[in-house]
Amino acid sequence: MANDCLFCRILSGEIPAKKVYEDDRAFAFEDINPQAPTHVLIIPKKHVIGLKEAGEADAELLGYCQLVAAKIARQRGIEDGYRTVYNVGPKAGQSVFHLHLHLLGGRDLRWPPG
Ligand code: 5GP
Ligand code: ZN
Repeated sequence: MANDCLFCRILSGEIPAKKVYEDDRAFAFEDINPQAPTHVLIIPKKHVIGLKEAGEADAELLGYCQLVAAKIARQRGIEDGYRTVYNVGPKAGQSVFHLHLHLLGGRDLRWPPG
């Protein structure tokens, strides 16, 4: 847990969030500024800064977050089209430095993303 990290503070319950899923390794909650009818953030409970800071020891956790996203998409009935996204670095719009996988779906998604 990093005291100055927004998502660690959500994990600890200090900052409220709409929980979607939780287990021993991962936590998922509704994005506060949704960009699609489903916009859920899946985070590891371990404080990892982002994809480019992740190491080989985090490989299983990265894959696990993808599987949690797939499970939520199945539960929400959006398997006809959804996207999982890591924004990496400032040019891609990364604004929170605790690894988070965006799950977006429930509407037509354009390609390539902006
Ligand atoms: P990024 O831009 O780093 O890829 O994604 C950060 C995401 O976190 C954004 O989509 C933003 O709307 C969301 N976010 C920022 N602050 C909060 C918050 O306090 N609560 C929730 N639920 N989402 C947040
Ligand atoms: Zn954190």
